[in-house]
Amino acid sequence: MTYQPDDHGYYGQFGGAYIPEMLHPNIEELRLRYREIMDDPGFQAEFQQLLRDYVGRPTPLYQARRLSAEYGTRVYLKREDLCHTGAHKINNTLGQILLAQRLGKQKIIAETGAGQHGVATATVCALMGVECIVYMGEIDIERQRPNVERMRMLGATVVPARSGSRTLKDATNEAMRHWINHPTDTHYIIGSVVGPHPYPDMVARFQSVISAEIRQQLLAQVGRELPDYVIACVGGGSNAAGAYYHFLDESSVTLIAAEAAGLGLQSGKSAATTALGTPGVLHGSRTILMQTPDGQVVEPHSISAGLDYPGIGPMHAHLYDSARAEFHYVTDAEAMQAGYHLSEVEGIIPAIETAHALAVLEKRPFQPDDIVVISLSGRGDKDLATYIKYQERAK
Ligand SMILES: *Cc1c(COP(=O)(O)O)cnc(C)c1O
Repeated sequence: MTYQPDDHGYYGQFGGAYIPEMLHPNIEELRLRYREIMDDPGFQAEFQQLLRDYVGRPTPLYQARRLSAEYGTRVYLKREDLCHTGAHKINNTLGQILLAQRLGKQKIIAETGAGQHGVATATVCALMGVECIVYMGEIDIERQRPNVERMRMLGATVVPARSGSRTLKDATNEAMRHWINHPTDTHYIIGSVVGPHPYPDMVARFQSVISAEIRQQLLAQVGRELPDYVIACVGGGSNAAGAYYHFLDESSVTLIAAEAAGLGLQSGKSAATTALGTPGVLHGSRTILMQTPDGQVVEPHSISAGLDYPGIGPMHAHLYDSARAEFHYVTDAEAMQAGYHLSEVEGIIPAIETAHALAVLEKRPFQPDDIVVISLSGRGDKDLATYIKYQERAK
């Protein structure tokens, strides 16, 4: 069994490219060229060199001693929080800007919700001296001031999306509209394993450096390449896709996904897509999404901006549907507790997204000999205000 998509971008029944006719030339150009460009040795040499010298790879694989002792198993943290800009997202934006250059595109557009993908995109655009426009909902611009200031300092133009709910979905619509009107000179950098084919596969391949490194590092540290478990949080699913990638066809490796349950599965304020969702089309691919019986997208909720998404990438929809991955649902409260706990016992303040993956240690048993690798997708500096506010409210 293989978990790679077919030629049309389908992972089982999920994936494909459900796009307006006007976008067809852009997507088709990408579909026809992305593999050839990514497989080119010159491309790989430049990508690998920048991953090393600019992003700071390989990121450490660190055995968390106190956490391991506490849970009676061997816990390893894959330190994506140590990447430049503080999370895994730059692995993808760096790959896509190199690809855009080879496609002859001089301009980059992106959409962002919390601003993390916008910052990672603005960063690589500054690195390459390329014009960058980031669409962002007007409400999100208000909520995420520091990231807006960061993007502007990096030279990006942040364009407010003023339609609809003035959040991520509206920013996505504006970015699509821009792309339709500027098909020849512009590349659209999508930030997760979502969107029409070939985006999910392309982004998964750029992020797959995470599991390639885990294999090598485990071999060097414990004498075997395969862990027993790989745990990652899933918003769209890009850090999980990268952490799973080179283990997908290794049936001895249990893949575990942590989704955000928000205030609880039955609370009406949740982002646990696989628990609450049904098949449908979202952002250009057939996947699982939270929707009403007549197909209106349900507003998600999570305390972490990066997991506050009503869908999930098609690869993960298939991993769920085929039971290849085990899914857990972590509430805001459970995640916050896990975030504080890692800070106290290991001296690492995780992003709140990442804290959802850490909370899985409380949800199921692990054996003393097990090797449990957790994708530490990002650092918590950006979340300090949320952590503090949450603790004050709990007092
Ligand atoms: C954006 C983000 C996520 C969620 O995105 P995925 O595509 O699911 O990885 C998770 N962790 C961090 C730190 C993020 O910034």
